[in-house]
Amino acid sequence: MKGSCLCGAIEYAVDQLDAAIGHCHCRTCRKAHSAAFASTARVNQEHFHWIKGKEKLSSFESSPGKLRQFCSVCGSHLVAVRLGQPYVILRVGSLDDDPGVKPQYHIWTSHHAPWLDYEGLPEHAEWQPGR
Ligand SMILES: [Zn+2]
Ligand SMILES: [Zn+2]
Repeated sequence: MKGSCLCGAIEYAVDQLDAAIGHCHCRTCRKAHSAAFASTARVNQEHFHWIKGKEKLSSFESSPGKLRQFCSVCGSHLVAVRLGQPYVILRVGSLDDDPGVKPQYHIWTSHHAPWLDYEGLPEHAEWQPGR
């Protein structure tokens, strides 16, 4: 399956996810994505391939040895890597294809955004009526 950043400068391919998808609520994921939580999954290095635009990657060391890699043009956070680890932590929201599996857990709920409440809210396929 393929993934890309918002502007399309960077594309990657993933052969398979090597662990379950989880939602991370940690403060650094919230800030890095400017979102209530980040959906992530481990992909072994040999199953992850940059297709184009790798030279446009920037990275930020959000905790010692952990590099968050994002597009320097549009800011999309694509993967995080831990130095010395044989996997990348894929930001699943950047996939263009359906991985065919559902998230299995939440982590770092101690950092849960206090305003987050998505259970039971009305859902609209696009904008809400009357907007
Ligand atoms: Zn981009
Ligand atoms: Zn996190």
